[in-house]
Amino acid sequence: MDFKPSPEVESLLERIEAFMDEHVYPVEAEAIKAIDEEVKPGVPYPEILVGIRATAKEQGLWNLFLPDGEYGAGLSNWEYGILCEQMGRSPIIASMAFNCSAPDTGNMEILVDHGTDEQKQRFLQPLLDGEIRSCFSMTEPEVSGSDPTTLQTRAELTDGEWVINGHKWFTSGANGADFAIAMVVTDPDAPPYTRASMILVPIDTPGFELIRNVSVMGHDEGPGHCEVRYTDCRVPEGNLLGERGAGFVIAQDRLGPGRIHHCMRAIGTAERAIEMMCNRANSRDSFGGPLADKQFVQDFIAKSRMEVDQARLLTLYAAWQMDTEGKRRARQAISMIKVVAANVVMDVLDRAIQVHGSLGMSDDTPLAGMWRFSRMLRVADGPDEVHKMVIARRELNRAAKRAEGSDSGDGRRHAPVEGTDGSAEPAKAAS
Ligand SMILES: Cc1cc2nc3c(=O)[nH]c(=O)nc-3n(C[C@H](O)[C@H](O)[C@H](O)COP(=O)(O)OP(=O)(O)OC[C@H]3O[C@@H](n4cnc5c(N)ncnc54)[C@H](O)[C@@H]3O)c2cc1C
Repeated sequence: MDFKPSPEVESLLERIEAFMDEHVYPVEAEAIKAIDEEVKPGVPYPEILVGIRATAKEQGLWNLFLPDGEYGAGLSNWEYGILCEQMGRSPIIASMAFNCSAPDTGNMEILVDHGTDEQKQRFLQPLLDGEIRSCFSMTEPEVSGSDPTTLQTRAELTDGEWVINGHKWFTSGANGADFAIAMVVTDPDAPPYTRASMILVPIDTPGFELIRNVSVMGHDEGPGHCEVRYTDCRVPEGNLLGERGAGFVIAQDRLGPGRIHHCMRAIGTAERAIEMMCNRANSRDSFGGPLADKQFVQDFIAKSRMEVDQARLLTLYAAWQMDTEGKRRARQAISMIKVVAANVVMDVLDRAIQVHGSLGMSDDTPLAGMWRFSRMLRVADGPDEVHKMVIARRELNRAAKRAEGSDSGDGRRHAPVEGTDGSAEPAKAAS
């Protein structure tokens, strides 16, 4: 493994840094407020971001996430990961500025891989051009999102149309989006992992009802995390994305790179928090000297540096494994970084807030906003506990396979553990 960026990536990184210094940080607070106030159906981005995005596009800092050179920058996952870290320093504004924000990125990836020519023209191209936003509609209030085999929203094929009925929530970004990719049950009698499909649903389709932006830690404005009801919502048969019954396979394709992006952005957020924590510690006096001289504060800083550097290396390793051995082989590393990065960023932000005292709790610095924004990472795309369960199952399985047919040292023979491939099958204790 060699994570020294190529001259091309180095140059992109420098240009992104310069762009953020000039166009992002100076208006960051204003742009966050404008998103809250201006985004609504038909208005995907506020005026201030329309201008910033146009400049980024002109400068070629656009769609950098797509590994397919025909549509994007053609970077490997670890190379784009390094750029994501830079963007994560301003996690809401920078990704939007460069047309690299979730869930559009994941939606574009699966449209590139699975979309028909018509779907690419209607849905992918305007996303690539930055004219619209999209959302991903999978989680339902009534069933556990951690176990998506329990999804209830149904789509039935009737007279050449999919008729969708169901209830979703946390469809992030639905307010102001042009279309949703809905994960729905098309084949209820099939085995659990082939029951669901993905269907493209324009937001203005009759029967698509945006009920509300769910309030998340006191915040319910802007693109939102939306509650949506589908009532006899009819879309053409041709809006099926990929194969019928392939919803879970496509979802897995989408999640691997998406998790790397989230983790590297989280590391960028944590880096900025460390920088702010150090600046505050150097400049604030208490009990006769700077906070920087207090060992408690030094402990915060040292721990944060060690944790962030470990998380970065593990994330780059997962990205590198995905690039060189494929998404399937990288699953264990991806699960691990999903847990590690989400927790590291929260711990570092918490320490940075603590060192800032009441200022840290206020919205006069970006810390409190970054804390609220980052907290979701421990829940969305699979909660910590589910990833840990899967990590442990794979380890147990590996140990059981090693022990298969041999004495493991404790005088007992161990059988392999079932369901250790990340499926929702419960692991059985080795007997
Ligand atoms: C801010 C935010 C944005 C989101 N955006 C989207 C989006 O755009 N589209 C979308 O479809 N979804 C989105 N989600 C939903 C997210 O993917 C789900 O919240 C997640 O999958 C968990 O599902 P759940 O909320 O139903 O929790 P549940 O499945 O009910 O789980 C609750 C808790 O139970 C525990 N738990 C669950 N299973 C196990 C287990 N096996 N072992 C031990 N503990 C367990 C965990 O602690 C977990 O947090 C978003 C969520 C948030 C918070």
